[in-house]
Amino acid sequence: MKIICIGRNYADHISELQNEKPTEPVIFLKPDTAILPTQSPFFIPEFSNDVQHEVEILVKINKVGKYIDAKFAHKYYDEIGLGIDFTARDLQNELKSKGLPWEKSKAFDGSAVIGSFLSKNSFASLENINFELQKNKQVVQQGNSSLMLWKIDQLVAYVSQFFTLKTGDIIFTGTPKGVASVKEGDVLEGFIEGKQLFSLQIK
Ligand code: ZN
Repeated sequence: MKIICIGRNYADHISELQNEKPTEPVIFLKPDTAILPTQSPFFIPEFSNDVQHEVEILVKINKVGKYIDAKFAHKYYDEIGLGIDFTARDLQNELKSKGLPWEKSKAFDGSAVIGSFLSKNSFASLENINFELQKNKQVVQQGNSSLMLWKIDQLVAYVSQFFTLKTGDIIFTGTPKGVASVKEGDVLEGFIEGKQLFSLQIK
């Protein structure tokens, strides 16, 4: 399986990192080795002094698709989840300034937290999903899927123009504002509509 991540999909996060608003979705990949095993703590890697949390809505692909039309995109997923795209921001800034690929800062081991999934039918509308990240019981990131620049179906369609989507692939749909560094001892908990979908410790 592969993990496809969308960057810069919320206007408030684009401005907090002083990035330009893209004219089409920004895409990058994480390998399956990036998945943090369930129940495992997240160990801050030695190559970074500024690993930041990015809480994101996840979409789990349920069948093979290529050149999917946005109006049929909903047939390619049944489940919505929540995760974290851990980012070594110091390394990413260095790579960005040199015009180099971001992989080392985004795709390292343990950088993809994948929480539990909910049936998409449990939502009244996928364009109005509330989610949040708590750090040590304080809300640090809060978002709603209505604020996405590109909605889930548009993302599935867009991504499938470049990458054949396969069963089990997961799309990380981008983070709202509030990204910040993690430190040893932090506890991160993710919620969709008040339901806890992951909890993890930083070590
Ligand atoms: Zn992200």
